[in-house]
Amino acid sequence: MAPMLERFASPGKGNGLRATTAIKSGKLLFSTDPLASCVSTKVAKDVCHRCFARHETLLRCSQCKMARYCNITCQKQAWSDHKRECKCLQSILPRIPTDSVRLAARIIFALMNPAKSRTEELYSLNEHESHLSSMPEQKKQGLSQLASMLEIYLQQEVPELALEMTSALPQSCGQPLDLIAKVTCNCFTISDGELQEIGVGLYPSLSLLNHDCRPNCVMVFEGTKLHLRAVRDIKPTEELTISYIETLSLTEERQKQLEDQYHFTCRCQKCDSQDTDTIMESGEQATWQKLMEALPKLEELQAASEWQTLRESCARLLSAEGSDVPDENLYKLRLTDMALDAAVHLGHWEEATTHGERTLPIYRRYYPDPHPVHGVQLMRVAKLQHYLERIQDALNTFKQAFEILKITHGIDHPLVADLLVKMEECRFEMDQ
Ligand SMILES: [Zn+2]
Ligand SMILES: [Zn+2]
Ligand SMILES: [Zn+2]
Repeated sequence: MAPMLERFASPGKGNGLRATTAIKSGKLLFSTDPLASCVSTKVAKDVCHRCFARHETLLRCSQCKMARYCNITCQKQAWSDHKRECKCLQSILPRIPTDSVRLAARIIFALMNPAKSRTEELYSLNEHESHLSSMPEQKKQGLSQLASMLEIYLQQEVPELALEMTSALPQSCGQPLDLIAKVTCNCFTISDGELQEIGVGLYPSLSLLNHDCRPNCVMVFEGTKLHLRAVRDIKPTEELTISYIETLSLTEERQKQLEDQYHFTCRCQKCDSQDTDTIMESGEQATWQKLMEALPKLEELQAASEWQTLRESCARLLSAEGSDVPDENLYKLRLTDMALDAAVHLGHWEEATTHGERTLPIYRRYYPDPHPVHGVQLMRVAKLQHYLERIQDALNTFKQAFEILKITHGIDHPLVADLLVKMEECRFEMDQ
């Protein structure tokens, strides 16, 4: 089958990918395994380092005590990728390098292994942009520290790194600083079915994809395998785009994040028209400003799993300032989502369902195209309704989730298989 995408020079953006043919919404365009990937340190104890599945109990590598696996099969399969890493990890115990340093090391190991050299890539690591020349000095210093960490980490296995990466390594590894900069600009966050971050990976061909705040494609993962799918109908030669960031935010926020993290100014249509900004900041500014100002503290509580305090703070804010602010307001929406999260963790199911249901019309409004975040939110609410034995409501919400997830994930994705089972359960219970 001829590929549905090809590399091209995108006007004003450098390299890009475009469609070679007309593509329907929901079409799978490309699937690929990473050149290298690693589990995020913060979930390293909960996720298999081979297949990225979550388990209550995992086998631990007896040598580095860091890597964990579902079973002996996953451990054996992982060994060729883990062997060198394992020695490096042991050499710097009890320290654990950051995710980007561990990923950079895995990229070097992959490139050192000729059996794994990948000639089919549309974009080599050599060509990846590091943005070092345009980077603010402070950021460059941060990356230099990571580069030094990488050299210390790799000393055991790749002593050449310190000697300006001599012939032992493919040229594409470049200098440690260059490699670290390329990794941080080009790697993708690997997420699980609930869209929780579980790792990072480099998928060289797909680094060519440019950003749009209203993209025509999405990336979803199955383990570490990345699928690129169309979420709108695409014309031949039209550029393929994804969003590098969460798009449910104000134009100014998105642009700042894109500039800080990816070093470009977004000039997409959504940024141009600032279409949803006014509605996202609807209501009395003096009132919603209090919600906005409370968010960073609440995010800290959420990150620290302080669910009871988070629940009380959200309830207080939502009943005081929140009651005068329309649901469409972005800060109120974020607050409601956090209240939902807290209620779920504390097992207050009725309360969680109320918060969740409140967010759904707003999600629908802010995600005009099928979007994984919207689909997963619907599924979350549907499961709550199902648990409360509101079977008809649950079935309706599952159906809405299905309409989105069949496009973004495809009907073969395990998440959608799970969804179909839930829908069957609802139908069966209604027949009873
Ligand atoms: Zn596994
Ligand atoms: Zn190990
Ligand atoms: Zn934009």
